[in-house]
Amino acid sequence: MPISTSNKPRVTVLGSGVVGLTAALELAKTYDVTIVARNMPGDPPSLGWASPWAGAMWFGVDGSTPAQKKMQRASFDKFWKMAETMPESSAKRIDVFDFQNKTDISGESGLWYNFMPNFRYLEASELRLGAGSGMFYTSCVITPDTYLPWLQAQCVEAGVRFIRQEVTSLRQAAQFVPCEVIVNASGNGAKFLVDVNDETCHMVRGQVMLVKCAAPAIHISHGKHWSEYTYVLPRGDGTAIIGGIKEFDDVEPAPKEWLRKSIHERCRKLLPEYIPEKFEDLEIVRDQVGFRPEREDSVRVERELLPSGQKAVHAYGAFFIVFSCARWLIGEGLTGGGYVYSWGMAAEVARLVDASL
Ligand SMILES: Cc1cc2nc3c(=O)[nH]c(=O)nc-3n(C[C@H](O)[C@H](O)[C@H](O)COP(=O)(O)OP(=O)(O)OC[C@H]3O[C@@H](n4cnc5c(N)ncnc54)[C@H](O)[C@@H]3O)c2cc1C
Repeated sequence: MPISTSNKPRVTVLGSGVVGLTAALELAKTYDVTIVARNMPGDPPSLGWASPWAGAMWFGVDGSTPAQKKMQRASFDKFWKMAETMPESSAKRIDVFDFQNKTDISGESGLWYNFMPNFRYLEASELRLGAGSGMFYTSCVITPDTYLPWLQAQCVEAGVRFIRQEVTSLRQAAQFVPCEVIVNASGNGAKFLVDVNDETCHMVRGQVMLVKCAAPAIHISHGKHWSEYTYVLPRGDGTAIIGGIKEFDDVEPAPKEWLRKSIHERCRKLLPEYIPEKFEDLEIVRDQVGFRPEREDSVRVERELLPSGQKAVHAYGAFFIVFSCARWLIGEGLTGGGYVYSWGMAAEVARLVDASL
């Protein structure tokens, strides 16, 4: 284990996904930071973490608290700037056609998305897949295969150390790398770590395909039910992620054949200009399965004094949609994720660590 010679306060971050890496980068401005994690950028594919498998686009989450909106917005602002000033990060600006089940989105969704660049409501003639309403705006998309190693390199440059280790508790992580504060950015790990054991966490299965596709804009249809959630998400490099699905507490690791066909069928209906009629004509680069870390009470960003006396700051989770079926049924389907929250969450984590010392 590398010994720190710094006299700055020490912070250990458990987790090297998008949340842990971004928090570590922010914390390294002030603290002596070490990341402890089982999975790290550059590893062979693994279902042990979610970040490599994300779409990953920025979108606003209906029903968020003001504090959650602030975190989401801070991430958007950062990605928007990065797309211009740090293209090597993979961040890109992209137009979005966002189709909703609801017929009236002039309420919260409208207000929420109003700040998005180029925002406008879609005309009835522009709606697809039986949507009741829709919005157009410009957002940002990230390519995790590029972004995660880029973030890790930024961390290394900022002095963050990385130690690969699986732990059974936050206490064990903090004993392994002694620290004043431990940050819990373990995603689904929060369900299993013995001193977190968050029973409100759920692993939400996603299955998508990375395909060759020249579509210039993201098309998302929320559908009437989570099984109709459909999107074509171009990455601006000639490929697109096509999906999607949310399967609650389903941990099947292999791509399901019926789902591959269903995704193709739905995406073809959504974007016939760019998705071939026959499944056989799809140019599939790879299938992707991942487990989103979601939580009944949405994101958890808060301090805790562990029974061992160790100071901790939690940073994980996203809104768990099944917990509020009514919202889903009226077409408010997006739950947000680590990318949507990452930069805002990192700033909040830094504030909470400051307050802990
Ligand atoms: C198909 C799909 C599409 C998605 N699309 C989007 C999107 O468009 N936008 C968006 O914002 N989000 C999206 N998400 C969700 C997003 O992927 C997750 O919210 C995000 O990656 C969570 O990041 P994280 O850093 O919290 O967790 P993870 O990436 O899971 O990282 C957890 C880290 O903790 C470590 N860890 C856990 N337990 C232990 C342990 N016991 N010991 C040591 N280390 C441990 C892991 O090894 C890993 O390093 C999508 C997800 C899927 C599956």
